[in-house]
Amino acid sequence: MLWLITDVDTEFDCVRFSGKPRYTGDPGLTEGVPHLLEFFDKFGLKATFHIQEQSDPEQSILLRYPQVYDSVQKSGQEISVHVHTKEADYETRKFEITAAVNRLREQGYDILTFKAGWYFSNESTIEILEELGIKYDCSPLKNSVVGSVRWYDMPDSPYNPSYNDITKIGNAKILMIPITNTRLGITVHENRYYEPELMRRGTEALAAVAEEMSEPVILYFTTHSWKPIETDGSGFRDWEVERRNEFFSFLSNYKVESLTVSEAGKRWQESNYKPYFLNLPDLLGTYRSIFNPLRHFWLVKNVLSRLYTVKYYISGEP
Ligand SMILES: [Zn+2]
Repeated sequence: MLWLITDVDTEFDCVRFSGKPRYTGDPGLTEGVPHLLEFFDKFGLKATFHIQEQSDPEQSILLRYPQVYDSVQKSGQEISVHVHTKEADYETRKFEITAAVNRLREQGYDILTFKAGWYFSNESTIEILEELGIKYDCSPLKNSVVGSVRWYDMPDSPYNPSYNDITKIGNAKILMIPITNTRLGITVHENRYYEPELMRRGTEALAAVAEEMSEPVILYFTTHSWKPIETDGSGFRDWEVERRNEFFSFLSNYKVESLTVSEAGKRWQESNYKPYFLNLPDLLGTYRSIFNPLRHFWLVKNVLSRLYTVKYYISGEP
């Protein structure tokens, strides 16, 4: 059984650039979101939009671009909350996440799902989410180190984490729905020549694993509101649009069930599935140059991630 989760980190375009924004305005929100909604509609896909909210009204999409919420809601897709803070302490995180969730609930948006901005999460975060009645968390990004959290030896399936270590299985009520197949290369990313083939190979690898399993295996397609837009803000990136089209056309050869995060989470819990670990290949590494340390990813990760606390180094994109 193969489940497809398509999600969109929906945020101000400036988050795209770690330095100074290269253009003004937010075409990712004003053009990218309508474009993606139409695309999902065309392919009959369910999608989850993790939409940026912060305590600061300037960083609130609800206050500045309410049409984003209207259009996602109207299309029947899921609205999730996406809070960006790299402060690790409980108080700051509680303040930011509560402000975001309350603002949405006051406007009648029923929020069940969360994804941490930059995947920056920790043990206090799940406590805060549970206090707020959030049920599903897409913050774990397998094979990465974010803040103080090493997301390596974690399950490849949804799991209830431990309050003491969110990368381990435990008794927390919240269900983590991790992104685990990044190393298979299932993403439209850098306009590298090998991407379309890699995406097909990654899907084949995952589908083969799913054949052997009695639990569903989740194929994640993760993107950003600004990803369809040129880096100078001038219009749509043709190659990105084309590859996305190609990939989802290819995916129609498979028996894949498209679900929002909360639909997948609910079904996982109702079916009482147990978490599992997979041994997925590092397909992305095999496409890197022999001199690129990422080619030797499995070795590098174990050495580097133990030596340093690296904010995010897998993709370099937020
Ligand atoms: Zn983000």
